[in-house]
Amino acid sequence: MADVKKSGVFTLWLVNLAPGNEFYWGEGTMWSVGNHLRDMFQKVVSHKSSPFERFHYTWERGVVQQTDVVVYFLASQADSIIKEKYKAVPKHNSGSGGTFPSAGGMLSEVYLRAMEGDFAYSRLVAKLAFHECMHNKIDAAAGSTTADIHTGDGLAAATISNGTDLTDANISLMAANLGRNVIQHTETMSAQTKYFF
Ligand SMILES: [Zn+2]
Repeated sequence: MADVKKSGVFTLWLVNLAPGNEFYWGEGTMWSVGNHLRDMFQKVVSHKSSPFERFHYTWERGVVQQTDVVVYFLASQADSIIKEKYKAVPKHNSGSGGTFPSAGGMLSEVYLRAMEGDFAYSRLVAKLAFHECMHNKIDAAAGSTTADIHTGDGLAAATISNGTDLTDANISLMAANLGRNVIQHTETMSAQTKYFF
């Protein structure tokens, strides 16, 4: 494959819908999760197949582009927008995250409480968020050539831990799919201030 001419920015929108708690979830953890995600996505954006020049993440709200990804952080699966609003089962129905192509756009969720107690909590949350981003851009999207990301290694695997590596295959697969237009579910972004502290 010929190298793509890189331009523009890939933005990852992180939406906090979880209440803070003393030991795990707060502004410090959110900052750390964002930084871990930046470390991973900068490798993806730097790959020769990525059409983007730069990566940006934000916990703020704004105008989501067709190539961007939105990830919702919820306290638990009981708060799932996928289950509550759409009465649906996500692509990967796990206790710590889910992604579902809803009528209102692609919807990725991370369930925080399931990961509490992990000694590298923010790193695990970031890795899980990256896994859901892979579902979001790759196998949950219409017209994908990858039927199931779980056949892959590293962060594509169905079960991941804080020590699971972002592999070269993960980077290459994500880079090749990063430019796809996958309309995101943005309706619930406006609820972000509900629990913010
Ligand atoms: Zn999965």
